[in-house]
Amino acid sequence: MAPWYAQYPSELYNFAFRDAVAAHRNFLAGRARFPKFKSKHRTPPAFSVCYTVKLDPGELTLSRVGTVRISAPDSHQADLRRKLRRGRSRITSARVYFRHNHWWAALAVEYEVSSSKRRPPTNGPVVGVDAGLKSQAVVAGSDGVVHRIVAGERHYRTNLAKTKRLSKTVSRRQRGSTSYHRALRQLRAHQGAIARRRADDLHRLTKMLTSTYPLVCVEDLAVKAIAMSPRLGMATMDQALGELRRQLGYKAERFGSRVVVADRFFPSSKACAGCRAVKAKLPLDVRTYRCEHCAMVCDRDVNAAANLAAYGETVLVTEALASLMGHQITWAGDPDRPGPSATRPRVRGHKSHARREGSAGQSDCPTGETALAEAGSSQQLVRI
Ligand SMILES: [Zn+2]
Repeated sequence: MAPWYAQYPSELYNFAFRDAVAAHRNFLAGRARFPKFKSKHRTPPAFSVCYTVKLDPGELTLSRVGTVRISAPDSHQADLRRKLRRGRSRITSARVYFRHNHWWAALAVEYEVSSSKRRPPTNGPVVGVDAGLKSQAVVAGSDGVVHRIVAGERHYRTNLAKTKRLSKTVSRRQRGSTSYHRALRQLRAHQGAIARRRADDLHRLTKMLTSTYPLVCVEDLAVKAIAMSPRLGMATMDQALGELRRQLGYKAERFGSRVVVADRFFPSSKACAGCRAVKAKLPLDVRTYRCEHCAMVCDRDVNAAANLAAYGETVLVTEALASLMGHQITWAGDPDRPGPSATRPRVRGHKSHARREGSAGQSDCPTGETALAEAGSSQQLVRI
């Protein structure tokens, strides 16, 4: 056993081993590359604790680290504390990490979701959502009626010039010097601001979709493949399509709506929403869909969204028929189809962020002595 083993609580090692196991599992399953060696000089510091995690107004107590001051409490934190007080939830662990100049603590929380609280969106239209490259999302019904066009911003692209300038400054400084750390802080702050703006946009969009419509149909894009393309890569990654899908999934569960993921080979763009004729080819720079069969002319993204809405309706009809006949059918690629497990209360995770200032630029792990100052906070719900 290493001589430094006793210096840290055993939970730190346990979590590290758990992370390593997860990394190797992902590798063996073909989801990820072989795990890389982590260096304290290069890898942003992060660790998990579970023995002591206590959330008080403006304070977070962690085992070994001690009590640290956190961001000004917001309504989400107050809500979580109320649930904890009443014994209706339990903090299982905390992941502490350094990102964008601040220390964050993500709390994993178990709690029961009472089914009575779920209010499914009233019988609104079934919609298809096309995450276009021009706008963030086009929401349309199967009849081609556009319910919403979410403009969205290309955050990465609009800020690219500044990102480049700041990165250049960092690389010109002497590594480890005061000015190097100052430049690095500026770059991290900038990147953090971009990430927060993008996250805000996404959360607004996914909440609007899942709380307004009873069924949302999205397409299953080969995100990785598109992202590799030199022309569309940046635009695709800027949209965070994977995160969009993830948020739709858990928010649909929360609001009682449904998300249907259309098959990867469903021709959402190439098919005509009017007569279902499928074009053999449709280059990406063609922004208007013109059908040769029924002479329909409409925006490319609206056409795709309408096709997806039609797909969603087909799923509903098929399911209704199947239930009439007493059969159960399974739709591939539909993670949110209510199965037998949908009726029992779910244990969900709650992620709360506590930001810590005053330690910006430090790349070593936090110790109990480090004083923490006030900061803002953001909250996220994740599934465990
Ligand atoms: Zn047509």
